[in-house]
Amino acid sequence: MILSNDTDRIWLFDYDLTLYAESERAVLNSLDRRIALYVQQVANIDYDHAQEIRKRYWKEYGTTLAGLRAVYGVTPNDFFDFIHQPETLVYPDFAPQKRALLEILKGPKYIFTNGRSDWSRKGSSKMGILDCFERIVGLEDMNWDGKPQVSAYETMEKVLEYDGFWKKGDDPSRIVLLDDALHNLRPAHDRGWKTVWVNPISEENGSFTDFRIPDLMDLLKLLG
Ligand SMILES: [Mg+2]
Repeated sequence: MILSNDTDRIWLFDYDLTLYAESERAVLNSLDRRIALYVQQVANIDYDHAQEIRKRYWKEYGTTLAGLRAVYGVTPNDFFDFIHQPETLVYPDFAPQKRALLEILKGPKYIFTNGRSDWSRKGSSKMGILDCFERIVGLEDMNWDGKPQVSAYETMEKVLEYDGFWKKGDDPSRIVLLDDALHNLRPAHDRGWKTVWVNPISEENGSFTDFRIPDLMDLLKLLG
């Protein structure tokens, strides 16, 4: 099966572990360390236990923040101000080959991320690809309820409508979501979007996954 690269195609990219690869997991680890420290403070527990809770919330609530909000009532900006401490964070490498790939894609491109947008703005700027995107749709734009909440996908469609690329009633399969988190693809598939699972590890496959690639750069192989 081939994913056509037409001008009316709309490309949505998750940021973490999608726009930068599993091989750069140190980037995400630097953030996860801050998240665990935050959990440690809020829950008043030891660091190892905080890491467990961080992962459990991600699984149960979709994001760690969603779990922290539900259980401890934390404020999203308080959470992000704490975890986005530049001196403690690692960013992806400069990536001209990714820029070349993005420039091949004919339709508009967006970052659609469960992080507050300053994180992916800084990272994609370091990669040299920030200006390839129409804009970043970050968690703050989704009223802090990110993927896989249905409202996040509705917000994304509203942004596309506002930007004049798509409107309700248009063919939803023009929209493609690339994401490393399988649970984020199901609601996209339910809306009729095309889904690309970017994952080099798991052998599992969902019925809601149209394509699967181990790495972003493999997207080239899917194009007609
Ligand atoms: Mg991700």
